[in-house]
Amino acid sequence: MSATAIDRDIDNSQMHVSEEVVIEIEKMSKFYGAFQVLHDIDLQVRRGERIVICGPSGSGKSTLIRCLNRLEEHQEGRIVIDGVELTSDLKNIDKVRSEIGMCFQHFNLFPHLTILENCTLAPMLARQTPREEAEATAMRFLEKVKIPDQAGKYPGQLSGGQQQRVAIARALCMKPRIMLFDEPTSALDPEMIKEVLDTMVELAEEGMTMLCVTHEMGFAQAVANRVIFMDQGRIVEENGPSAFFNNPQNERTQAFLSQII
Ligand code: ADP
Ligand code: MG
Repeated sequence: MSATAIDRDIDNSQMHVSEEVVIEIEKMSKFYGAFQVLHDIDLQVRRGERIVICGPSGSGKSTLIRCLNRLEEHQEGRIVIDGVELTSDLKNIDKVRSEIGMCFQHFNLFPHLTILENCTLAPMLARQTPREEAEATAMRFLEKVKIPDQAGKYPGQLSGGQQQRVAIARALCMKPRIMLFDEPTSALDPEMIKEVLDTMVELAEEGMTMLCVTHEMGFAQAVANRVIFMDQGRIVEENGPSAFFNNPQNERTQAFLSQII
């Protein structure tokens, strides 16, 4: 098990999941040239779900996440986000991207912009939000991730954990209804992992729909309502966290868990 403790009580069962399906993936396959990276993915996500996706390196976790906001294109099957199907129609892609926030392993902040400017850029450019309003919103989210005092600095002046929290705040400034995380703590030193996980726990408690690729199994146990295990481009196991960790069915899941727990 990851050494990172989530050191407060989190009542997972109090986190509300609605009946409304916000992500519908049906028989979705993706190829890189002749290589099939995702096979027949079926997944439904309801509003308020916290889904943790784990699996060995190269199993297609990042590709799956990236297909959801069309950073990658799928070739077969359907992906429908909040009723909008992802096709090559750019209008649909824009609409879907405006609902989805994404946070990557490498924070991808703009190094030449201040923290505040990183957070206001997209709302001002993509949403035509007036500067004052964009800055007020940015400060609110920087307070939420507990670094309002860093607003005037540049990314290079912040620790990795602080930069990742800025990346989360920046995503939240676009008021997404769904947050995707792709190994947000993998590049961080252990003492910084917790501060990022704490931010993610708070988001979950506020009802954000979240798909998180992570190997932080403490986080998965505390926060996820479903854990998905991928191997070789397929979802090979899916269960609630206690069944997933205590009684994994698939032998590849068992082997994976025995390595990381
Ligand atoms: P994971 O995130 O689970 O480590 P990825 O989704 O990054 O897995 O990769 C899945 C598979 O697809 C790997 O075999 C990887 O080498 C391959 N792959 C990823 N991106 C590309 C790409 N742009 N072109 C070709 N193959 C890729
Ligand atoms: Mg990956």
